[in-house]
Amino acid sequence: MENKRKPLLMANWKMNKTAERALSWLTSYLLLTEGRSQVGDVVVCPPFTALYAMHQRLAEAENINLALGAQDIFWMESGAYTGEIAAEMLTECGVEYVICGHSERRQLLQESSEMISKKCGAAVSAGMTPVLCVGESLSIREGGLTMEWLEAQLNESLRFWDKKSDIVIAYEPIWAIGTGRAASAADAQSACLCIRNFLREIAGDVADTIRILYGGSVTPDNVDELMTEPDVDGALVGGASLQAEIFAEIALTDR
Ligand code: PEP
Repeated sequence: MENKRKPLLMANWKMNKTAERALSWLTSYLLLTEGRSQVGDVVVCPPFTALYAMHQRLAEAENINLALGAQDIFWMESGAYTGEIAAEMLTECGVEYVICGHSERRQLLQESSEMISKKCGAAVSAGMTPVLCVGESLSIREGGLTMEWLEAQLNESLRFWDKKSDIVIAYEPIWAIGTGRAASAADAQSACLCIRNFLREIAGDVADTIRILYGGSVTPDNVDELMTEPDVDGALVGGASLQAEIFAEIALTDR
């Protein structure tokens, strides 16, 4: 099937920026990109506390190509779940995408693939697109077990999936996140191809419609090479998304 997938670029700010700083990033980004063409769909995932203010600012702007994403979600609709955030709290803020299962949450907060599957399911039920993160550690890569690891993570984290609803998969090798050591374009391609083959096994041709992103030390210098690979449909960008100027450089086609 011909590749008709629209490229997707996502900024993951992690636990950075107050609402005020988020708005100042947004003002700069909109100025830098006004009237210029950007690579496909562009999404920014700020901390929860900045979502509402950013949503309001975006609603006032015209002709913008910037959607909002959240960095997490809880699977219950409401109730006694101190500290958690429900789907409708996110949709009220205009959130369209939700990062689920980032390796920082899997490692630091012991999120299991079962929990992540429920989170993805909650996003889909509320009409948002889950961005499911998978990726191997350095020891798994060095042990030659990357593909088995990815398949196991996908198998367990995709239990929610009806094989029809829109999802995004982000391949994020843990050793490349925040290290300045991005995967080579060839390694990113073989992991993304392995992910697509797994999707094809469980969902047939739908696999050709699912966007698979690469994440891990993406910068303006390496993004083009990574995104030229046939199964890399975009990027999830952490550190390089914190400055509007640098993220705009990644997102603009006429830079
Ligand atoms: C991330 O946190 O998803 C990420 C890819 O971070 P960085 O770009 O900083 O490696």
